[in-house]
Amino acid sequence: MPALLKLTLALFGSVFIAFTAQATIAIDDTSWAPVKPQIQIRSFKALPVDKMPIFIHTFIHDDIAESQSEIYAKHFLPMVKEIEGTTGRRVSVQFIRHQPTYTDFAYENSDEQATYQSWSKLAIQYRNKQNLPYQQTTKFLLLTRNSLNSRVGGIAGVGEQVGIASLKSTIIVGHEVGHMLDASHENGEVLFRSAWWCDSYMVPSPNILTSNCNIYTDANRERINAFLKNVP
Ligand SMILES: [Zn+2]
Repeated sequence: MPALLKLTLALFGSVFIAFTAQATIAIDDTSWAPVKPQIQIRSFKALPVDKMPIFIHTFIHDDIAESQSEIYAKHFLPMVKEIEGTTGRRVSVQFIRHQPTYTDFAYENSDEQATYQSWSKLAIQYRNKQNLPYQQTTKFLLLTRNSLNSRVGGIAGVGEQVGIASLKSTIIVGHEVGHMLDASHENGEVLFRSAWWCDSYMVPSPNILTSNCNIYTDANRERINAFLKNVP
C-alpha cells in the first residue's frame, strides 16, 4: 500500500473491509474520556447488577428492501451471539428506518474516507439530538445495499462509535462492529472448521471460496474485552 494512503488511514483512524486481496491495517490512538468512577454503595442486600449492554443504533438505508427480521437473522444474530458470549454483555440492536438525512445518506463515493467523515458527522449529530452517550458501548451503524465503491464494502473507526456496512456479504456487519470494539485485522484469521476454511470476522479481504466462521479469533476476543474493561 502506498505510504500516503497508510498515513491517511492512520490519521482518520478508520479502516475498511476490502474486496481485493490487499490488507489494510490502521492504528487508532483516539482515547476515550476516562470513565468517571462511580460511587458504589456496598450492601450485602445489593443484587448483582448486569453489565451495561452494547447498543447498536442501526440505520437501514432506504435502498434496502429486506425486512428487519431478515436483516437481523442474516447479518446480526450470529454476531450478537458471538459478542454476548465473548463479553458477557447483552447486545441490543435498534433499527432505524425511513429517517431522511440519515437513511438516504449518499454513501457511494470513490473516496471512502470522505464518506466515513460525512457519516460520522451525521451520526454524532443524531447521537447528540437523541441525548445518547459518548461511550464505548454505544454504536451508530449505517447499513447499505451496495458497496461504498468497487474496493470497499464497509468502513468503521477503530474503537469509535461510527461505521458503515454493506449487506453485500454476511461478514461485513460483524467486521465493522468488530472494528468499533477495537478488533483488528492483524488478529483476523482464516480458520479450518467443519471440514472447510472459513474467515473469522476480522479477515480484511474475505475470499470468495471461504465461508464465514461468525466468530472473532481468541486474540480479537481479548482485544474486545480489554476495550470494554473499564465500562461498567
Ligand atoms: Zn477492516
